[in-house]
Amino acid sequence: MYNLTEITDKMAGNQKINYDRVLKKMIAMWEQQEVRPTILLHSCCAPCSTYTLEYLTEYADVTIYFANSNIHPRSEYQRRALVQQQFVTDFNEKTGKQVGFLEAPYEPNQFMKIVQEKGLSDEPEGGKRCTSCFQLRLDLVAEKAQELSYDYFGSALTLSPKKNSQLINTLGIDIQKFYKTNYLPGDFKKNNGYKRSIELCKEYDIYRQCYCGCLFAAQKQGVDLKQMNKDATSFLANRESSLADEEGVVPFSKKVGNQ
Ligand code: SF4
Ligand code: SF4
Repeated sequence: MYNLTEITDKMAGNQKINYDRVLKKMIAMWEQQEVRPTILLHSCCAPCSTYTLEYLTEYADVTIYFANSNIHPRSEYQRRALVQQQFVTDFNEKTGKQVGFLEAPYEPNQFMKIVQEKGLSDEPEGGKRCTSCFQLRLDLVAEKAQELSYDYFGSALTLSPKKNSQLINTLGIDIQKFYKTNYLPGDFKKNNGYKRSIELCKEYDIYRQCYCGCLFAAQKQGVDLKQMNKDATSFLANRESSLADEEGVVPFSKKVGNQ
């Protein structure tokens, strides 16, 4: 375990903490003790999970937890979940690793309720709405990790240069106090992690979305949500059709079209 008191003392003194170094110390400890811990890792779409999995699976057994009820619309949520799952499958095939994939129920009302109750709809990206959004998802992964007896819970979110890794780690350490499972600190953009994730996205041909996920950020960014819904729906239909072709089943949409 990392020295939580040392970290919280630094936090109280407003000092920045190098969470990459904290993780490296933790990994050195695993190696010294010759253990390979289990980690339930939250990810909100495939890109941030690419390098994070490449790195962590060298030392630990990792399962991705897709818990992202913040994503709007539903079709886009489903597309990101499918792309994430496909990446896990492809990564395992290519590397011989055995990364798992679990998906939480999609409950957008849960996220919307928090935004409404706290009056966060007009917050800019990176503001208080995002803090609540990180908190919600870290709490879900901690709860699941405890239920399934993982050694650690964590998130791939710190790979993104747009996300505040000091904040994400502070929230993770706070949430850890309520669960038996430990928080896995980290800052995956370090060690050229972000650059490597772009290479891996190309290598695995991974869809990279143009907005973070929620309705509010998409609207502020001027994303055409009708078009987004159309694109995501057609992606899902194509996917359904190719899966059906592989299994020799005529998909529902084709049956309707032929009538
Ligand atoms: S932070 Fe952005 S790029 Fe990274 S997993 Fe989440 S939505 Fe995807
Ligand atoms: S901008 Fe992203 S992190 Fe912030 S509330 Fe929306 S989905 Fe969550």
